[in-house]
Amino acid sequence: MIQNLHTHTTFCDGKNTPEEMVQAAISLGMDSLGFSGHAPMEPPGNWTMTDVAAYRREVLRLREKYAGRLEIFLGLEQDIDSPPQPDPWDYVIGSVHQVWKDGQALPVDDSQEVFLHNVETFYGGDCYAFAGDYYRRVGEVAERTGCQIVGHFDLMTKFNEGDRLFDIAHPRYMAAALEALDRLASQGVILEINTGAISRGYRTAPYPAPPLLRAMGERNIPICITSDCHSAQDLLCAFPQAAELARCCGYREQMQLTAEGFHPVELV
Ligand SMILES: [Zn+2]
Ligand SMILES: [Zn+2]
Repeated sequence: MIQNLHTHTTFCDGKNTPEEMVQAAISLGMDSLGFSGHAPMEPPGNWTMTDVAAYRREVLRLREKYAGRLEIFLGLEQDIDSPPQPDPWDYVIGSVHQVWKDGQALPVDDSQEVFLHNVETFYGGDCYAFAGDYYRRVGEVAERTGCQIVGHFDLMTKFNEGDRLFDIAHPRYMAAALEALDRLASQGVILEINTGAISRGYRTAPYPAPPLLRAMGERNIPICITSDCHSAQDLLCAFPQAAELARCCGYREQMQLTAEGFHPVELV
């Protein structure tokens, strides 16, 4: 069964309409597809949805239209700073895209230049102090969003291919990340292996990094593979690579969503 639960469309910052995504999923032989539009957040971003009601209507229309050909799930990527969305969702991905420092929202994944500028300006150039604030929020994301899946756990490494900005083996970095993992492990949430930064050319490997993936396995944290795609052509980007990474880090199963909820299936 091929599934991807982390996808974006023209309702937020994706390139393709939901229907184009559905048609691509069918032609790729996928069994199911979940939409996870970016929920509105504070401060407003130009990458979040402006009409959540229309998004819901369109996904529910497609679910009916393509019934029997593709199972479609209505999800939401809820930022830790998104106001609560009262409507029912099939699932929620909880993500941290910004940290707050001195009353300002600092984006985590905007660009390398913005990241370095903010670390320099607000943290005196200390990436590990930024990591402390980032992972404190990630540790809270399940409690704050009520999510079933935590998005891109180590997003702050988006521009750090080859450890060019900071060392992920640094004790302060690992301590911050492991504290977040411990807190999430107690929440019973799924963490994703997310290939989104590969399709966008920022990285050659998925999130999270292998040491964190092994630490997740030791804590019995379940996983699911997603591509966080912003276009139909990336629906299954690097899925075999992600599955191989999971196996190398000790995983044998991933979680899949069905009409009855999440259940484990063998990694293939
Ligand atoms: Zn995200
Ligand atoms: Zn996303």
